[in-house]
Amino acid sequence: MKKNRDISVLIIYTGGTIGMVHDPVTGSLVPINFRHITKHVPVLGNFGFNLESISFVPVKDSSDIDPDIWIKMAEIIETHFDDFDGFVILHGTDTMAYSASALSFMLENLSKPVIFTGSQLPIGLLRTDGRENLITSIEIAAARREDGFPAVPEVCIYFDNILTRGNRTTKLSAEHFDAFSSPNYPPLVEAGLHLKYNYNYINYPPERRDLAFHKSFDNNVAILKLFPGINRNFVEAIINTEGLRALIIETFGSGNAPTYKWFLDDIKYFISRGGIILNVTQCHGGSVEMGLYETSRDMLAAGVISGKDITSEASVTKLMYLLGQYKSNKKVLQYLDKPLAGEMSI
Ligand code: ASP
Repeated sequence: MKKNRDISVLIIYTGGTIGMVHDPVTGSLVPINFRHITKHVPVLGNFGFNLESISFVPVKDSSDIDPDIWIKMAEIIETHFDDFDGFVILHGTDTMAYSASALSFMLENLSKPVIFTGSQLPIGLLRTDGRENLITSIEIAAARREDGFPAVPEVCIYFDNILTRGNRTTKLSAEHFDAFSSPNYPPLVEAGLHLKYNYNYINYPPERRDLAFHKSFDNNVAILKLFPGINRNFVEAIINTEGLRALIIETFGSGNAPTYKWFLDDIKYFISRGGIILNVTQCHGGSVEMGLYETSRDMLAAGVISGKDITSEASVTKLMYLLGQYKSNKKVLQYLDKPLAGEMSI
């Protein structure tokens, strides 16, 4: 077993509230240099780990994070993969679930922890949640099972005492410290007096498979959230978007949509032109069950794919990832229907 001083964790600071301060002139939150974080958490030295950090220049509010930045994060991990036992990515909370989902698809056969964290209050404030989030994320990134293998070799989000699988997680609150939720998959680690590892829920990579980095995305994807009284012109404008390859329809309940004839005709038209439609529920928890009600049976017959219990964040990043990997729909449809990184139940 490695001694503490032999354990190395790389902290990658991309931006977000955790490293922000109030601008004395405007009063709004602005990002600061990463050194601010270590200054405010001197206790990090007590781990005895070798902690190194890399900061994005300029740092990014997570609303500005896009596939190019996901690739940049993955490339930093790829470059340093052999030199560190685990990785902690400090990231704004707003789009953290998208980035964590994207990286879960990009890093195939991952054998080391990649833990995303951030905070609701800047780390420089007295009541910050950032200190605990950072400290425990580092501890989990360094943790090993009894046999010496990394305890959680997955892309995860640690926030407010819970570690969840990144591609199962959604931001739920813009106010509370327990900002994230994983409605359809149990926590991988629960932090109380002790860190409780739920080993049965953690994915371990197949032996003798090398880590593969996949780095192309295709953003010809759209999300259409249904609502009662949705306007036909609006739906048709989306369906007819030039270059659109895949459409996620956020449906009601267990995958239901209006039974208007024009709506079904539009869906059939899009699919007949080679488009892919994925049915994802707009409910926070639970699964799409196409065919359960009449209101989804016609969509099933038209060739709409069930997203089962996938989150909206995982569905859009999975589609961008699959469309980036495969030019033909056949492979995309094949992989869309099964979990690639534990993002949906079978
Ligand atoms: N706007 C910030 C971001 O997502 C909020 C945060 O860090 O929590 O980058």
